[in-house]
Amino acid sequence: MDRRNAPPGFATRAIHLGYDPATAEGALTPPIYMTSTYAFESAEAGGEMFAGQRAGYVYGRTKNPTQTLLEARMASLEGAEAALALASGMGAIAATAWSLLAAGDRVVIDRTLYGSTYAFFTQGLVRYGVEVAVADLTDPEATAEALRPGTRMVYFETPANPNLRVIDIAAVAAAARAGGAAVVVDNTFATPALQRPLEHGADLVLHSATKYLGGHGDLLGGIVAGRAETIARIRGTGLRWMTGATLSPLNAFLILRGLKTLELRMERHCAAATRLAALLAGHPAVARVAYPGLAEGAAADVVRRQMAGHGGLVACELRGGMAAGLRVMNALRLVTRAVSLGDAETLVQHPASMTHAAYPPEERARHGITDGLIRFSVGLETVEDILADVTRALDAA
Ligand SMILES: *Cc1c(COP(=O)(O)O)cnc(C)c1O
Repeated sequence: MDRRNAPPGFATRAIHLGYDPATAEGALTPPIYMTSTYAFESAEAGGEMFAGQRAGYVYGRTKNPTQTLLEARMASLEGAEAALALASGMGAIAATAWSLLAAGDRVVIDRTLYGSTYAFFTQGLVRYGVEVAVADLTDPEATAEALRPGTRMVYFETPANPNLRVIDIAAVAAAARAGGAAVVVDNTFATPALQRPLEHGADLVLHSATKYLGGHGDLLGGIVAGRAETIARIRGTGLRWMTGATLSPLNAFLILRGLKTLELRMERHCAAATRLAALLAGHPAVARVAYPGLAEGAAADVVRRQMAGHGGLVACELRGGMAAGLRVMNALRLVTRAVSLGDAETLVQHPASMTHAAYPPEERARHGITDGLIRFSVGLETVEDILADVTRALDAA
């Protein structure tokens, strides 16, 4: 294929975009700027930067060149005008919500969210006078009802943590536009390698960069991307004086390193997770498997429309319920019992007692996060070794 006039592809941008070695002594790898503050050429220049009349770096809480490069690459990979890097996924969520919402505003959240995100909205924001409505955003009628005029923001994950529900981004965006709400999508599970929510009508896309973007289980980080004006607002208020959730330059460097292999890793995560999902679906001890690649009916259409691959997370419920689930987790030898996801290591966790313990038990059940659910983040080990370990543990259940 003739690519002479084609824009650079995803992996090329993930590796090269925004950096010229000639600007840094020829160093192949971008430098890490470990600095908290920046020298002003003159007193007047410093004043002009503070007034926003001159470009440049002022102080490390809001901007650092290593973060700037990461932000440029993430904006490109998500198809956004701009991006902002923060200290964690929760930092990105809090900085975004606190920048865009005020007392009296109404927010709609999907009923399945990462536990701390759910707590942030239902226990945190409500203390400051924000009205938070929980809806099933896979249901078009419930979505249209919930997104009535006066709603300021709609927030969801797809695929959702932990039960892998998929939400039709374009459909929610259309309903939100009718009522004037901003659409914010947590894209942590899919990454831009598999799904780009802004292309389907979302206004902002968020990440826990702790997961696949970093990809190696050695840091915490967060990203939010969208229109330049909105990102500037989140940087100037949510980051600068509402959270101070600044990503360290070293972690920005490590996420940049992770991005270089993102596409490659996601292909392998998807292939291995597809095999684990098939194994689980065929095992007599398993009652139910949740994986976007096994979605049926309308959900399968949504997956086809908005995802280029099915991701590395698989959840399942055992016939023996929670007790059997815990037995299987304890019988695993290679697969590591740990929360988090997106690492090279295959991890398994029990959402009801771990990542989603912040939900009151009745709500957890109502929201489809059952006590028997266990969730695998399929890693990059030799696939046969992962499958053998899970088979042995299931046989023992
Ligand atoms: C982990 C996670 C978060 C929170 O991110 P941190 O980096 O741990 O603060 C938010 N959303 C999803 C879907 C997550 O998995």
